Amino acid sequence: MDFDLTDEQRMLAQTARDFVSRTCPPRMAKEWDEQGVLPKELFRGMADLGWFGLPLPEESGGGGGTALELVLLAEELGRASLDIAMCYSGTFIPGLTLLKWGTPAQRDRYLPGMLDGTERFAIAMSEPDAGSDVAALRTTAVDHGDHFVLNGQKAWCTGAGLPGTTIAMYVRTNPSAPKHEGLSLVLVDPATAGVEIRRTPTLARHILGTNEVFLHDVIVPRENLVGPLHGGWKVMLSGLDLERVLMSGAYVGVAQATLDEALEYSKQRQQFDRPIGNFQSLSHAMADLQVEIDSARLLSYRAAWLHAQGRPCSREGSMAKLKGSETYVAAARWGMQILGGHGFATESVMSFRWRESIVAPISGGTSQIQRNAIARSMGLRSY
Ligand SMILES: Cc1cc2nc3c(=O)[nH]c(=O)nc-3n(C[C@H](O)[C@H](O)[C@H](O)COP(=O)(O)OP(=O)(O)OC[C@H]3O[C@@H](n4cnc5c(N)ncnc54)[C@H](O)[C@@H]3O)c2cc1C
Repeated sequence: MDFDLTDEQRMLAQTARDFVSRTCPPRMAKEWDEQGVLPKELFRGMADLGWFGLPLPEESGGGGGTALELVLLAEELGRASLDIAMCYSGTFIPGLTLLKWGTPAQRDRYLPGMLDGTERFAIAMSEPDAGSDVAALRTTAVDHGDHFVLNGQKAWCTGAGLPGTTIAMYVRTNPSAPKHEGLSLVLVDPATAGVEIRRTPTLARHILGTNEVFLHDVIVPRENLVGPLHGGWKVMLSGLDLERVLMSGAYVGVAQATLDEALEYSKQRQQFDRPIGNFQSLSHAMADLQVEIDSARLLSYRAAWLHAQGRPCSREGSMAKLKGSETYVAAARWGMQILGGHGFATESVMSFRWRESIVAPISGGTSQIQRNAIARSMGLRSY
């Protein structure tokens, strides 16, 4: 058993750590969140470092990285905020889907823009009535031979309103088939007539922003179909393991940063003539949190390692996503308690961490859905 990183992996993590301190430290992420802006330089900066190409094979202009390198990167970006980590993974996961399922023409059209940071993706699976049961989605795409006509409504489409974004949208192409068998993936340009995007006001995650997308008689050319017609469920599942692994890395990073911030404060803040961190009730809480974070990190690295070996990792990915997201919530909750009134003031970074943490066990598959998946892998039928 080898718990060590290679020199290249250590260098990648250090470069990402430097990038975060230089370009998007947590206080800056908080300001962007409050202003609801994604600075162009952030996305471009990630591209300039070659990160969007990292998971692509070398022959497609990529860095040939595996889930292990990606999880290290997500962890470091997560130290800034979840939204910053999502800025990265929210684009390249659809990029990888395109690489796996797209036609040569689609790859030529979309991948160069992703690699140089001029174009990005958003993913639209969820709908107002299709959240955890996403296969129940109802947005229709009627086949007219050389084009589809889309009607319906998507919900929670993160980053859909940003410039240079293409929406990777799951739609129902065969309404009479069983729900998992009538779906397809199409690429939608938000500037197409009949597409309307409305920002959803939320507690946090304002940097990318999350949106409703309304579709009224939207014409999508057939060449925008990705993967087989009616084969969308398989396409969706093909990226799910990696998505969970990466999210778990981001949760580990942001939970660690949250604890580090609380720890630092607890060493400075004096009450009853001693640093508050030395009160056992707080020092034990922080010790417990470090154990939780290390457990989450090990689960995340294990899932990434399995993925990198090409081995099944759905159960391990669910475990890592569940543990990481809930650990972030616990770290932020304790962080608020340790900072006392200072945390409650909205100028504190901790208040930003706390707002943002709430969504971790919800988006990307709730904790209950991860537990269902883990229970199913244990031979239980969990509804
Ligand atoms: C900030 C944010 C960003 C998002 N970004 C995107 C995005 O970019 N693209 C996209 O497609 N979606 C996105 N989502 C949607 C996200 O994936 C869904 O919110 C999530 O899957 C849960 O769906 P829901 O919110 O409709 O909750 P529901 O599915 O209605 O769940 C409500 C509650 O019921 C529980 N529940 C539901 N089914 C079961 C079950 N079988 N067993 C036990 N408990 C159950 C849930 O765990 C939860 O506690 C985003 C959501 C948020 C909040």
